[in-house]
Order: sequence, then C-alpha cells, then structure tokens
Amino acid sequence: NVPALKYRRILLKLSGEALMGKADYGIDPEVIGRLAREILEASRAGVQVGVVIGGGNIFRGAGLQAAGMDRVTGDHMGMLATVMNALAMQDALEQLGAFARVMSALKINEVCEDFIRRRAIRHLEKGRIVIFAAGTGNPFFTTDSAAALRAIEVGADLLLKATKVDGVYDADPKKNTDAKRFERLGYAEVIARNLQVMDTAAIALCRDYNIPLRIYDMTEPGNLMRILQGEPIGTLVHS
Ligand code: UDP
Repeated sequence: NVPALKYRRILLKLSGEALMGKADYGIDPEVIGRLAREILEASRAGVQVGVVIGGGNIFRGAGLQAAGMDRVTGDHMGMLATVMNALAMQDALEQLGAFARVMSALKINEVCEDFIRRRAIRHLEKGRIVIFAAGTGNPFFTTDSAAALRAIEVGADLLLKATKVDGVYDADPKKNTDAKRFERLGYAEVIARNLQVMDTAAIALCRDYNIPLRIYDMTEPGNLMRILQGEPIGTLVHS
C-alpha cells in the first residue's frame, strides 16, 4: 500500500559539497550514486524532478576572489564547476537507466543543452530528470538563487534544499545543545532573523512567488520519498 504523492513537480537543490562525501574536494562516486538512486526513485514514482547542483566542492567565486582573482572570473569558474557536477549527476543517473538532461545557463553546446524554459518543461513532462547547470548564468548570484528561479520558472510545487542537517535551528546544533529545530517558518522570519537557510535573494524569490521550501537531511536515506509522500521531515518555509 504505497502512500499517494503530494507533489507533481519538484526542484531539488544539492550543494556541491553534498557530492564530496567525506572528502574535502571533488565528487565521491558512492555518494553521487546514492543521491542518483533517490532521485530516480522519486522520478519512477511519478514526480517530475528538476535538480540544481552547486559547485562549492570545486570552486566558489568568493573563495577565488579571496585568493586574489577577479570576482567575475571566479564566478565564471564557479558556474563551470556546477556544469561538471551536473555532468557527473547525469552520468550517475544514466548508469541507473534513467533519462536525464543537463541544461546549462551558459552555452556549452558540445557538452550539454542550453536552458530553454519550454524545453525544460517538455523534458519534465516526459519524465526526464532535468539538471539545471551554471546557476543563473550571472556572476554575483548563487545556485540557491538559481534553484529558486528555476523552481518558479518551471512551476515546481515544492523547492527542496538538501543539506547535512535535519532542518533549520535557532542556533548551531553542533555548538549549542539547546538549539531548537523549527518545524515551520515564515519567509519573513527567515529574513528578519537572518537564519542561514538559503541566501536572501533566494528566500525573497520564494516569498514573492509563494513557493514552499523544505530544508531536509539528505544523508538520511529515504528522506526524499518520505517528503514526497507528505511526511513533515526537516523544516518547511512557507508564507
Ligand atoms: N555562481 C554564479 N552565479 C550563479 C550561480 C553560481 O556566479 O548564478 C558561481 C559562484 O561563484 C558560486 C559558484 O558558482 O560560488 C558555485 O555555486 P554555489 O556557491 O552556489 O555552490 P554550492 O554552495 O551550492 O555548492
């Protein structure tokens, strides 16, 4: 008796760091394989899945700038890093027999498709997993903002942010044993209290276009399907 799914189309944000596993750089094949299996499980259950992957496991513009590089060049490198991660996820999904397409906000046509909104929606409708690469295509943005943007553009009914903690807390749970986890939060509260959920541009987009956002622990196997079946895992940010 399989519970009905609560969502029709979701946008999942994975940070680049999510792919590293225990290493401090790059991609752990075991970790990306496990994430791919969970994504495919959701897709096969009938949910249309878009994925935005970060690049922080390889390069971040701010980090390169701190090391002396021009910021815009650093951001270009960060966006290219997300393309590499997206290709790795596409490969991991295809190895499992899934249909997946990388669509990039920067044109790299020998490597992947361009992001064209109507085509992205068509892929989703056909049950293909769409991996949105290169963030928004603009420097000074993050892949969190890209995730909010793509979620709105393709009409996702839920934005999921996969992290290593089981939701949003009022203090750092690693440093403070009294830290309390929020089950629900309003967008305004996230911004006013400066809770580190997603960057402010991403939260503001979610708020303005009223897309619910759930922050959950992706290191716990099965969480993605549980959420899609309506279990209140992690923290929900809503209006
Ligand atoms: N980036 C950018 N514009 C975007 C998205 C990303 O310039 O729209 C660059 C930026 O330098 C960022 C890097 O790509 O640091 C990697 O993305 P992000 O830091 O969001 O990755 P994550 O933290 O999710 O791994």
